Amino acid sequence: MNRKELSRQIISTCLEMTKLGLNQGTAGNVSVRYQDGMLITPTGTPYEEMTEDSIVYVDKNGQHEDGKLPSSEWQFHLAVYEARPEMDAVVHNHSRNCAAVSILGEAIPAIHYMIACTGTDHIPCVPYATFGTHQLADYVRDGIKQSKAILLAHHGLITTDKTLDKALHIAHEVEVISEWYLKLLATGKPIPVLSQDEMRFVLEKFKSYGSWVEEK
Ligand SMILES: [Zn+2]
Repeated sequence: MNRKELSRQIISTCLEMTKLGLNQGTAGNVSVRYQDGMLITPTGTPYEEMTEDSIVYVDKNGQHEDGKLPSSEWQFHLAVYEARPEMDAVVHNHSRNCAAVSILGEAIPAIHYMIACTGTDHIPCVPYATFGTHQLADYVRDGIKQSKAILLAHHGLITTDKTLDKALHIAHEVEVISEWYLKLLATGKPIPVLSQDEMRFVLEKFKSYGSWVEEK
């Protein structure tokens, strides 16, 4: 796919993220792997005002093209592409329920079989570090190897997959799971979780269907 098409996809993913209620202001950012680096949303531009020309190319060393500034969170996007060579898209947001659960600083356990959409049986949470820092990118590099979706403590969510559609679907799914989890925690009762065997079975099933998300 050429740069123009990829840029269009980035913009439509941002707008879709807003439609799905996954954005808090312009806190979300989106990227796709491109050449030896990535194309990523710019800093401080409302999604509605973005054009294909607003999207910024950043190479694998973190050098961005002249005259454009990438999202302040570009470092962890690059870290995902380094850690997961088979993935080509990254979605990040501060969606309400994911950000709320992230404050607990703990993984979400297997409360529902749809957690398997992340490729594993729980949703890990990486430690807090200031946004836009090398430290946070290091945490993300480690965390994203375990799962296609990770929580960032006191911050939000990152998802990755082969396409933006799939990464966005996972982000939506994890937001819903986070909402359920918060509701369960609020009951104050012990929360039953699915067994590792059951989750392994579901993970296999998802694999054998090829994908749980329809290709567009
Ligand atoms: Zn953020």
